[in-house]
Amino acid sequence: MTKTNNDEKKNISRRSFLKGSTLIATGAAIGLGTASAKFLKSDRKLLRPPGALDEDMFLASCIKCGQCLQVCPPQVVILADIRQGFGIGTPYVIPQEGACILCAGLPCVLACPTGALDHHISLGKDAEMGLAVITGSDTCLSVQGQNDLVYRLNNVLGMSLSSAKHAKIKEILLSFLKRLSEDEKKTWKSHFALSEFSEKNVDTIFSKITTDDLDWFANFVKSSSQAKKSCQICLDECPIKEEGTIRFIAKNNTADGQQYLWPSVTKTCVGCGVCEEKCPTPLRSITITPRLRLIEKPTAHQTGEGQS
Ligand code: SF4
Ligand code: SF4
Ligand code: SF4
Repeated sequence: MTKTNNDEKKNISRRSFLKGSTLIATGAAIGLGTASAKFLKSDRKLLRPPGALDEDMFLASCIKCGQCLQVCPPQVVILADIRQGFGIGTPYVIPQEGACILCAGLPCVLACPTGALDHHISLGKDAEMGLAVITGSDTCLSVQGQNDLVYRLNNVLGMSLSSAKHAKIKEILLSFLKRLSEDEKKTWKSHFALSEFSEKNVDTIFSKITTDDLDWFANFVKSSSQAKKSCQICLDECPIKEEGTIRFIAKNNTADGQQYLWPSVTKTCVGCGVCEEKCPTPLRSITITPRLRLIEKPTAHQTGEGQS
């Protein structure tokens, strides 16, 4: 296909998306406030891979070859079956079971033989899969001033000893080690008599970890510099966080005067779903709405700016 044809196709795709979209007049929510008239939305129900054309064109163009699924490095693309009721055999992603990580070069887009995944898209920041929306204003740890590591640890420590408990502790351990200060790395090294600090020797440490070590680890986490920080895993894990996808805005709770951080999703979010996958609350406090787009900057009401 020539560049001109591709350009035309892209323009038609964009126009058709905008034409087929529904302007949500009221009631959509972002951040923790009720918002108004700032979104464009199509009636897409499934979260399609990066660069998918608008739903009608996508369904017409996708030949259900499964190439996008085969080349996906984290293997998160799955094919719709009878349970989805339509588009059987077309690809989609379920963030909580494995989100799209917007990997370099977007191999799924490159592999698509028909352009159902738009070949003009080559960067994760242009993926336009959907939009993350804060759906758990009452469960979000940041709003409650809670740290994610301590929260996860408290949930795990109550579990009876099992391989599931070990797996969860190892997960917390890996998250924790990424955030250690230099002094804390020295403490870690000294406790496990290591010659140097490395996140890679966790498996070795974990294979011979004792109950005393686990108690020491729990206390170490709870007294660490990290424990004082509110959760912001959704931002930390976002593959395009440098685009400013989520802003944490300081606010004061009118009831007790305590300050907390309010997560506000911006229009640079592309809806990859990593934040939904990584959010530690059982009912995710942040979820993706497929093909939802924020078309204007959030208002002060949405972001909480100027409110107390
Ligand atoms: S590679 Fe393209 S045509 Fe093939 S299943 Fe994926 S989206 Fe459809
Ligand atoms: S990951 Fe984000 S949305 Fe989820 S609890 Fe933490 S701050 Fe809140
Ligand atoms: S905010 Fe969430 S959905 Fe949006 S780009 Fe970042 S990780 Fe992906």
